[in-house]
Amino acid sequence: MDTEILSPDGSGYARAESVLRDGGLVSFPTETVYGLGADARQDRAVARIFEAKNRPTFNPLIVHVADVAATKRYVKWTDMADRLAAAFWPGPLTLVLPLRDDSGLSPLVTANLPTLAIRVPEHPVAQALLSEFDGPVAAPSANPSGKISPTRAQHVINGLSGRIEAVVDGGECGVGVESTILGLFDEPTLLRPGGLPQEAIEAALGGPVVTRSEADPLTAPGQMLSHYAPGAAVRLNAVEIVEGERLLGFGKVEGATLNLSVAGDLTEAAANLFHHLHALDADGDAPIAVSPIPETGLGRAINDRLRRAAAPRDV
Ligand code: AMP
Ligand code: MG
Repeated sequence: MDTEILSPDGSGYARAESVLRDGGLVSFPTETVYGLGADARQDRAVARIFEAKNRPTFNPLIVHVADVAATKRYVKWTDMADRLAAAFWPGPLTLVLPLRDDSGLSPLVTANLPTLAIRVPEHPVAQALLSEFDGPVAAPSANPSGKISPTRAQHVINGLSGRIEAVVDGGECGVGVESTILGLFDEPTLLRPGGLPQEAIEAALGGPVVTRSEADPLTAPGQMLSHYAPGAAVRLNAVEIVEGERLLGFGKVEGATLNLSVAGDLTEAAANLFHHLHALDADGDAPIAVSPIPETGLGRAINDRLRRAAAPRDV
């Protein structure tokens, strides 16, 4: 694949919009760093973000939208969110709020959590692109996993050329550090320091913000492990089914109750993963055997998640 470099003008935005609509990946500048965007409603498109970045785990992504009104389609809004949005959006603040049941977002975006990280970026190119697309764009930083976040289009090209459809070249990013992430749980909780200082948030709220180490942000809303794991026991690397088991297949295997990808396509398997686990969970508690999945590319993230599903429960 040749990565197209798009100009930040009407024709560039129109092209970027059509790439996103077709399930492709478009990098674009925000005021913090360049993001790697995909339509947050399309499972395969979101799976491709993890593939392009070579991320070893399905950690949750931040959804970017054009304005405050759009956020309310995806999260359960609160008065505190209203105050913060009025003070700081558009801008480098991400809010984590309960996900709406009818959000329509891919479960890969939230790593199957019941909460969603969302923000309205300020950069004019991000604004123009999001307005043109008029939908939710999941976007982590546009760098290969483990590398430095990009603040110019050339950095994105250096890291991801040939792995993504396009990058909108909007020059240099102003802030250069990631957005501040605030969880709006019982107490407002700083999950990651970033471009907006904690003091500014506290001044707007008229009260303190509690902090939580970023090493442990995901235990916040409800038990993380229980969201990884179906009720039934899970057995990995199953080459044959034991009596009473249901098989979650991968590749051309016999007798699968559901198959992540008959073609053995890891992107398709990632896109199906949470949907199939939910479907099996809803359909009883007979143990689940899972076919072997190669430990390469997206297979690493899939296996990471399946290992968590198979791990002993720490109720
Ligand atoms: P990045 O992918 O580099 O943009 O980072 C996204 C950050 O958002 C990570 O630190 C995630 O842990 C955090 N994040 C995203 N969604 C959630 C969520 N629902 N709850 C808590 N943290 C989140
Ligand atoms: Mg990053």
